[in-house]
This record gives sequence, C-alpha cells and structure tokens, in this order.
Amino acid sequence: MKSIIDSHAHLTWDTFGQDQAAVIERAFKEGVVQIVQAGVDLQSIPEMIKVSDQYESIYFGVGIHPHEAKFWSQEAESALKAAAGHPKMVAVGECGLDYYYNHSDRQAQQAAFRAQVRLARTLGKPLIIHTRDAWEETFEILDEEKAFEVGGVFHCFTGGPEVVARIKALDFYVSFSGIVTFKNAKPIQEAAPLFADDRILVETDCPYLAPLPHRGKRNEPSYVWFVAQKLADLRAVELASLAAQTAENTRRLFRLPAPDGP
Ligand SMILES: [Zn+2]
Ligand SMILES: [Zn+2]
Repeated sequence: MKSIIDSHAHLTWDTFGQDQAAVIERAFKEGVVQIVQAGVDLQSIPEMIKVSDQYESIYFGVGIHPHEAKFWSQEAESALKAAAGHPKMVAVGECGLDYYYNHSDRQAQQAAFRAQVRLARTLGKPLIIHTRDAWEETFEILDEEKAFEVGGVFHCFTGGPEVVARIKALDFYVSFSGIVTFKNAKPIQEAAPLFADDRILVETDCPYLAPLPHRGKRNEPSYVWFVAQKLADLRAVELASLAAQTAENTRRLFRLPAPDGP
C-alpha cells in the first residue's frame, strides 16, 4: 500500500470551493495519508480549523505570509496564539520574506517574520518558512531570532547548491514542490541530492505550482506523487522509499502521530 504526506497545501482557497471534499477524498484514495495546511492570513484560520476538525489526518499551521506582512499587528499575533490552542495546530507559518513580489514592503516583511519566529519559540512549534530572492536576510533573521530552538522547514525550495550548507548548519528541513519537476529548475535539481535523507519533505503548495505533467492547471494533494517521483529520480532512490522517508520526516518535524493503517 503506497503512502505519502503532502507537507504543505492550501485547501480552503476559493478554487476548491466547489469540490473540496472530492479533492481530499481523491488524495486519500491515492495514498496521501496526511496533509498539513499552511496558514497565510487570519481570514482563513476558521476554514482551516473546520477542515482539520472534519478529517482526522489533516493538520494546519498558522502564520502571516510575507505578502500579507503589512497586516501584522498585536491583534494578528493574538489571533495566531489563540489558534495555537487547537490540538491540530502543528506549526507557525508560512512566514518569511518574499523579495520577488514585494507585496508588502521589506521592512514590514522583516518585522512580521521576526515576530513570528519569536512566537514559534514561545509556542514551541516548528516554523514553515517561505523565502524567495531573500536567502541572506532570511538566514540572518533565523540566526538572530534563534530559530534553531524550534527548527522548521524551507517550504517550496527554490534555492541551489549554494544555500545547502547554510540550511544544514541551521539543521532545518527542505520541502520540494512541483517546481522541481520544471525543465528550467536546474539549480533546484542540482541541490536536491545534496540534502540528508532525514531532512527532505515533499509538498504540493496547491492550488499553485502543479508539477509536470499538470503544470499550469490547478494543483491538488494527490499530485504530490509527481513531485516525489522527480525527487526520487534525482536522488537515485525508489519512489516508495522516498515517499516513506519524506513521510517519516514530516511526522518528526510536525510531531504528527502515525496515521491509521488500512
Ligand atoms: Zn509559500
Ligand atoms: Zn504555501
């Protein structure tokens, strides 16, 4: 029986409004035994909780995405803290820096990111990091705010071999998304075999970033297998062992229980 975890998904977004249940059932049928929803804003928290209450094997993190960093406030922090009282809240994030889009100005992004690293330490929860075109500052903030105390994952890894040593020094995990299947993703593909077996995760980041052969379409958790297959090829291991290893790593990072057997 094949099984895998999608370590980062957005199941409550409008695009799943019509068929969310079907998408989730399809994932289970395809052996996606657990799913972690990533938080991006305050508005989606009640919906994420609803999904996690409804499905035993779906968990969630809460955070303010760098795009939304301009909305960071004391109230936002209180709301994230309140959500952390839920038994299936497993992480703080996604949070970080995105200097590619700059939907919030950089200062606001840094402030919100720092505050969320501190919050993760207060709560004793691992971090889900979103970073794009901002590796240096991201490492700096993680170092200064002592993120090593709680650990975390660089989700949707878009770096190359040059950042591998820094990530190893932090002892963080990396999660690969559909981007690793794209033909123009050479640096990511070159970095993929350089991480330790016990530090790699796979994710869809759905509804975005559908892997080949679905690129450009709506993504969903069952497609995590295409990401896993590519990563298995790059690391020269069997798909089943890559799936099992990344699932074990995801459970260790987010302290998920073993899923119910078939
Ligand atoms: Zn992200
Ligand atoms: Zn995401």
